[in-house]
Amino acid sequence: MVEDMLRTPAAVRDAERFTAHNYHPLPVVVSSAEGAWLTDIDGRRYLDCLAGYSALNFGHRHPRLIAAAHAQLDRLTLTSRAFIHDQFADFCRELAELCGKDMVLPMNTGAEAVETGIKVARKWGYRVKGVPAGQANIVVAEGNFHGRTTTIVSFSTDDEARADFGPYTSGFTVVPYGDLTALEAAIDDNTVAVLLEPIQGEQGVVVPPEGYLSGVRRVCTERNVLFVADEIQSGLGRTGATFACDHEGVAPDLYLLGKALGGGIVPVSAVAGNADVLGVLQPGQHGSTFGGNPLACAVATEVVRLLTTGEFQRRSAELGERLHAGLRALIGRGLVAVRGRGLWAGLDIDPALMTGRQACELLMERGVLAKDTHGSTIRLAPPLVITVDEIDHAVTQLAAVLAG
Ligand SMILES: *Cc1c(COP(=O)(O)O)cnc(C)c1O
Repeated sequence: MVEDMLRTPAAVRDAERFTAHNYHPLPVVVSSAEGAWLTDIDGRRYLDCLAGYSALNFGHRHPRLIAAAHAQLDRLTLTSRAFIHDQFADFCRELAELCGKDMVLPMNTGAEAVETGIKVARKWGYRVKGVPAGQANIVVAEGNFHGRTTTIVSFSTDDEARADFGPYTSGFTVVPYGDLTALEAAIDDNTVAVLLEPIQGEQGVVVPPEGYLSGVRRVCTERNVLFVADEIQSGLGRTGATFACDHEGVAPDLYLLGKALGGGIVPVSAVAGNADVLGVLQPGQHGSTFGGNPLACAVATEVVRLLTTGEFQRRSAELGERLHAGLRALIGRGLVAVRGRGLWAGLDIDPALMTGRQACELLMERGVLAKDTHGSTIRLAPPLVITVDEIDHAVTQLAAVLAG
C-alpha cells in the first residue's frame, strides 16, 4: 500500500495532538459501521470484536434502534425530569419488568448508575436498616471496575485508575473476588451493601467460582445487606442470559445497567430495584438533567423489546460455545488461558510471545479489532449479531497472529 496516499496517519496524529491522552487507541480511524463491521476512512473493513465494551450488543445501527431514534428525533428530544414525557412510563415499566423489579431510576452513564446505587444503598442503610449516621460501609471486590468518578476510583484496586486522584471517599471495604468466606467476614452491622460485578469485565472477563453469586445472595439476605449487581457490561444478553446473575438463578436487590441499554446510540443507564429500596429517594435528593430523556427512553425501550424475545440471549449462548471452543483449541498454541461466558471472552496470551497490545495491533492489520487489558490479556466481546462464519474468521486470524 502507498502509505502517504492514506488519510489514516494524519487523522491519527491529529487525534493524538488535540486530546488529553487518557486513552491509547489502536491507530484505526473509523467512519462508518453496520452490524458487526466497521469501515475506516481509507475504506478498509474490520470485524468489531469489542462492540464498544458491550455498548453495541445489538451491533452497529441495528435497524429497529435506528428507526426508534429517528422517529423520536422528529418529535421530542428533551424535557428534563421537571415534566413528564410520553416515552417515560413505557420505558420504566418495560425495563422494570425485564428486571423483575418494581421500578427503575434512569441515568446516563454507567458510572452514574453506580453512584446512584451507592447513594440509594447508603440512604436505605440509614432510613431502613438503622445504621448510625455517617457509618455505612459497602463491601466491594478486588479487581473491580465500576467507572471513573472520584468516589468509584476510591475503591479501585488498580493503581493506574486510582493513584493521584485522592483524597478518597471512605466507606468501602475491599475483599478478594470469588471468596465468599472473606466477603462474609467483611460484613458488619454497618454494612449496607455488597457491590459486585457478576463477571469482572475490565479485569479480564473473570468468572467467579460456581456458587459464589448464590452464596453472596444468601449471605446478603441473612445479614440484611443489599446485593448490588453491576451488570453494566455483563448484562443485557452479553453472557447468553439477560443478566449474568441468571446463570446462578440469583436476583440482586439492585441491578446497575448501562452500556447496551443505549443501543449504541445514546448513553442510557439505570438502576432497577424494588419499592422498599429505590423508594427511599424523595424529590430533590437525586437527579440528572438528561437522565430518562425522550430520545434515551425511545431507544432503550426498543432495546428492552429486542431482549424480551430471548433471541439475542440464545445467540450469545450458542455462538459463545463456538467462540470458546475455537479459543480453547489455541491453548498451548499461544494462549495460556481462556475465560468467559457467552460471546464474552478474556484470553491470556503467553507473555513470552507478545503483549496484549501487540496482539491487538497484529489483529488490526488482519482486519479484526479487539482490546487488550492488563498486560497480556485481551478481551473479545463481539456484537451479538455476529455470525458463525465471522466468529470462525476472528479465531482464524487470532491463530495466525499467535503463530507469528
Ligand atoms: C463500563 C462500566 C462502568 C462504567 O460505565 P461508563 O458508562 O463508562 O461510566 C461501570 N461498571 C462496569 C462493570 C463497566 O463495565
